[in-house]
Amino acid sequence: MEVWIDQDLCTGDGICAQYAPEVFELDIDGLAYVKSADDELLQEPGATTPVPLTLLTDVRDSAKECPGDCIHVRRISDKVEIYGPDAE
Ligand code: SF4
Repeated sequence: MEVWIDQDLCTGDGICAQYAPEVFELDIDGLAYVKSADDELLQEPGATTPVPLTLLTDVRDSAKECPGDCIHVRRISDKVEIYGPDAE
């Protein structure tokens, strides 16, 4: 699985960073971004990062609770969204 955030819809409330601080962080612009496996903040809008299996539940809950409906969790192999606004 991998995850990306649509910053255009992010409200900056920080819920994702509370659920999964290893994966999400608020930048100085007040919006949430994903982090790389080596803890680097990926400031490019829509950047994608792999989700470690151990954090999948936290990332899934972030997507479910995200007020902006802007956290997208998808399968790496075929890019099908599993959790998030575009999931079936
Ligand atoms: S939970 Fe959603 S709306 Fe809130 S900061 Fe994270 S990505 Fe943005």
